[in-house]
Amino acid sequence: MHSAWDAQLPSLVDAYLLWKHRLATAPEESQARVEHDFHVTCVGVFDSDPRFAVPQWHDELANVSLICNGLLGCTPTSPELTITFQCLELYHQLRRRQSSFGIQAYTKVLCVLHGVTYRPHFRDQFSMAFDVYLTILRAIQCCINQALCRDNPNWHLQHYCPACAFKQPGEPVLVPSSLKAMDGNNSAKWMDHAGHADHRVFPSTYMIPRADVDRFKDDVRTRAGQCGNAEHRDDGGCADTWQAASAVDEDAVKVFEQTGIFLSACRHGIILTCAEMLCSGELAKYPLATINKLISVHGNDQAIGSDIGCSLSATLAACSIAQTVRAANVQLVVNAFHGHAHNRMCQLQYHPLYLPGTGLEDFETCERVFSSSNATVALIRHVSHYHYVQYLELHFSQWDTDKYAELSCFLLNNYKQAVRLISTNTAELDAYRALHLHENLDFGSWAAEELAYLKAVESEPKQDTLRVTYVDELEKLAKLQNALQSSQDDNFLSYNQLSFTPGSGLSHVASAATKQSHAARRGAEHRVRSQQDRVKDLEEQLGIEPTDRWTPEMRKYVEMCEYSRHRQFICAVEELENLVVQRLFKLSKANLASTGYKLPVQHALERYNKLAMKQSPPRPVLQYNEVLSYATLGDFDLLKHSRHEVLARPWSNTMHRQMAVKYFKLLRAHEEINWLNVEVRQLQAWIDNETTEIKQIAAELSAQSPLLSAELWALFYRQQCVNIQHQLRLQCIYDLEGYSGVRPVIEHERGGEDEDEEAEGDEAQRLDACINVMLC
Ligand SMILES: [Zn+2]
Ligand SMILES: [Zn+2]
Repeated sequence: MHSAWDAQLPSLVDAYLLWKHRLATAPEESQARVEHDFHVTCVGVFDSDPRFAVPQWHDELANVSLICNGLLGCTPTSPELTITFQCLELYHQLRRRQSSFGIQAYTKVLCVLHGVTYRPHFRDQFSMAFDVYLTILRAIQCCINQALCRDNPNWHLQHYCPACAFKQPGEPVLVPSSLKAMDGNNSAKWMDHAGHADHRVFPSTYMIPRADVDRFKDDVRTRAGQCGNAEHRDDGGCADTWQAASAVDEDAVKVFEQTGIFLSACRHGIILTCAEMLCSGELAKYPLATINKLISVHGNDQAIGSDIGCSLSATLAACSIAQTVRAANVQLVVNAFHGHAHNRMCQLQYHPLYLPGTGLEDFETCERVFSSSNATVALIRHVSHYHYVQYLELHFSQWDTDKYAELSCFLLNNYKQAVRLISTNTAELDAYRALHLHENLDFGSWAAEELAYLKAVESEPKQDTLRVTYVDELEKLAKLQNALQSSQDDNFLSYNQLSFTPGSGLSHVASAATKQSHAARRGAEHRVRSQQDRVKDLEEQLGIEPTDRWTPEMRKYVEMCEYSRHRQFICAVEELENLVVQRLFKLSKANLASTGYKLPVQHALERYNKLAMKQSPPRPVLQYNEVLSYATLGDFDLLKHSRHEVLARPWSNTMHRQMAVKYFKLLRAHEEINWLNVEVRQLQAWIDNETTEIKQIAAELSAQSPLLSAELWALFYRQQCVNIQHQLRLQCIYDLEGYSGVRPVIEHERGGEDEDEEAEGDEAQRLDACINVMLC
């Protein structure tokens, strides 16, 4: 059936274009040919006709005859049920904008409008016609792409977003060179073997081929989401905290062939790549394949956000393309919101607030894409793989169209935000500096100092853990040695088996007791020996010579006993931190005040406060409200390490820390302006260029292929509508107080008079649009 449609496709495309642009005429030698009518059921939006007569020319495909009448058959040969293009296009547009609106719902609506009882096969028939309709549209898109020289398979990825990719001569070089985000999502699942009879392969714009992903299956040592390097994992939490809070339902994985999708997108939201995640578990191969693809197309200095950016950096450094990644200077970033759940050391290295060049970008784009693409979930689970990709593609292509239309809005809003931030934060920082005239408020170097400090203490806990264990084992050894000593004092041990000869006067009871005592001593000796081995083993790990064995009189021994008590306190801090982070996570997901966390947080807080007072020096006693803000500032790490006299450093002062955040925000806001100046210029150049180009090619093709030319004109008018809006908003940016970028020079075309008139026409159209917008 599918191959029968494929064979007809070229004729269907031609017939459709003829019908659409009302260029359909009877074939020239029509008079010589036999004409006859055949009858079909014709389904429109509001009415249906059970006996619609379709004239068919000699040798003409039935579906071509139908298309000439604005209809498409549900089967390739001898069609009986046909659907109007209006009806198909209406569903096409509905589906693009409301991905959860399925064919079944649509056909039921049609049945109600036509007064017909719904039958399940209506859905299948509509689905078949809809597939063919979309195939025709794609074939036309291919021709358009060819005419505009956009038919290179990587064209979309190279020119995905005019604000990101339409580089202009002489523009400042920014490092990083682009800001992107990537993430996986488990919602877009697909059932194993669903629709297995459908072997068609959907030609996708976004998908990274499975083979390109599987290249990296052996690279992966740990699951993505767990920190790749042991050091990172040991310091408690980071990515793991999020992972635990958003744990994947493991049972679900077995049922679905595909467990979701892995996307990358630019900061304006335009989707770059998509990879299907399979149930094979090597989750890190998707980010690796994505990064590999992005490097190969976009080159050096990219910054890519991921909620596991920190652990992924370690995976990248050890993977098969490590060298390429290093040479390309890829900077991984942890998304701004997710970053709050990572530990402080990670934030200072990977949070966009502290990364030069990232502007005010939050790298959360994928979260936004997923919150919209989740609408497709219910409909794509049980369809064939072809439809799975087709529906995702429909959703994404509409998403991209919308994001293109919002580009200038994005730039305008970000510009306003950055200008506002610069003025308020500059004023606040100046005022704060004036208040602390005698302090050296060097916020920038504090962050570096804090990072260096955290790195230094990071290795300590591991050593400390070992030392605590060592002291514990030494205590055990002392106890065992005491036990052995006391068993040797046992009277019965002075006897042995030979003592019990008849006439020695020793009883059977004594004999048994002696045996027992010997066994007990052997046991005690054995325990001492194995405990000694354990101690020796630890001494080897700690680099302590057996001759220098620690004794309870030594200062370090006493310190470790104290530290062991301090560990209880650290555990209390960690428990509190976990609960607060979980609460934060729930808030982000549900956007609700989650009361369920209040009680556990309060209990943990009580435990913490009790222990805090017992510490020397005593640690700050915290209030409930205070604790909730701690997670966002990374202050829990300070509490944990406060035994290192860290509270005396300027950067541990809470007020200073809040001002430091404002300071870094200010730096990023200045960079945001640099970004926007480049992006504004690129978008301006693109819209100036695009419509002119389409118009020119449409004019060139008018004689040679009028149908394609008509399609290009249609595209021209569509794009012009959007680009006029862009032009208006760009003008708002140029008029902003604080705009520091290039303003376009209004060029008067020096061509023939016709062109001048046309330019004026465009100008008039812009003015009209301007007035319309102002009136709205
Ligand atoms: Zn972009
Ligand atoms: Zn991290």
